[in-house]
Amino acid sequence: MSKVSPKRCRTYRYRLHPTVHQSQALTSQLHYQCELYNAALEERKGAWNWEKRPVTYFNQCKTLTGLSDVRPEVISSGVTLCRGTLKRLDRAFAGFYRRVGTGENPGFPRFKSACRWDSLQWEDKGGWTVKGAERRLRLKGIGEVKMNYYRPFAGVPKVITVKREGTKWWVSVRCVDVPALPLAPTGQEVGVDLGVINLVALSDGELIEGSRFTARSSKRLADAQRRLANKQPGSNRRRRQVEEVARLHRRVKQQRLNAAHQLSRRLVNEFDLIVLEDLKITPMMARPRLKPNPETPGNFLVNGAAKKTVLNGSIHDAGWGQLRSLLSYKAESAGRTVVVVNPRHTSSTCALCGHVDKKNRVTQAVFRCCSCGHEDHADSNAAVNILRAGRARLASASVGPN
Ligand SMILES: [Zn+2]
Repeated sequence: MSKVSPKRCRTYRYRLHPTVHQSQALTSQLHYQCELYNAALEERKGAWNWEKRPVTYFNQCKTLTGLSDVRPEVISSGVTLCRGTLKRLDRAFAGFYRRVGTGENPGFPRFKSACRWDSLQWEDKGGWTVKGAERRLRLKGIGEVKMNYYRPFAGVPKVITVKREGTKWWVSVRCVDVPALPLAPTGQEVGVDLGVINLVALSDGELIEGSRFTARSSKRLADAQRRLANKQPGSNRRRRQVEEVARLHRRVKQQRLNAAHQLSRRLVNEFDLIVLEDLKITPMMARPRLKPNPETPGNFLVNGAAKKTVLNGSIHDAGWGQLRSLLSYKAESAGRTVVVVNPRHTSSTCALCGHVDKKNRVTQAVFRCCSCGHEDHADSNAAVNILRAGRARLASASVGPN
């Protein structure tokens, strides 16, 4: 069931068009913040190694006040920016301690290289203002940066992140207390089967072809990778080719996100109830366990890892997890219900008579019931079962104690 969050958050992303001067200032600020991160990490490491004393985020924030005397340029874009950098380090440590706590073997937070540091985060209000009417983002110490403010954000802006991607700059504005935008009921309900071959099958029989962006761009990517491998290490041409490969990857990512946004918007607009399978994506994406060969110790038998890797690629390509999260936040804001059901037997049950048999599924695409002879596309059949399971869950929830 969709969660109702009292503090509804949303992030809005806009393209920035800094002048040459502003982009130089932003780049210098990237260097300073990276330096600050590394210095703060050094402090935490030192305190731990020599005095066994933990240093917290709040301890480190306090030392920022002295920074304006020694390194004024680091703090020139506001103390909130420096706090954002310290927060980032704090998150790295929190993740490290959490993994230590769960018995994993995590790596200690590492020093960052300045050439990989590409974002600035202002942790709170102060140091920045969004001037919507003038389509400008005012950044302390940088100036008024031209911003493609194509749509206004809703709610209260809280945190901003300015990011460099290749030669482009972007700003993400995180807002809290975003008001809901309820939609009028349509009286329609849908079950959604998320597949690898067809991205999505709906219970009304519609099949929505996944565009498989990686698959489509894989040749271009492979070509770009090959050209990269032929370049001299350390050369300018190699550096440019690295950027080209990164650009292709970013484009695929953006196309995939766009498709997921459009599909989730369509489903939320058309249906009051949306039922999905609860696919535990992480275990499905996990690598299969190694199979030791009992005859020759130290050797391993075929475990299907290569096949699994291909499947993982397709799962990732279809963007399951992304679609689900976009769907749930849009549904929550629109007042729609999203129900997640156990996927067990949904693909082997006949949607017409309820007969359960693995043999019902003739191929990946064809479903033919052994009992009543009902024939359908396998994914559409599963979608009908998913919708039925979702309605049953809703019915039992409304009768139950809650
Ligand atoms: Zn049947």
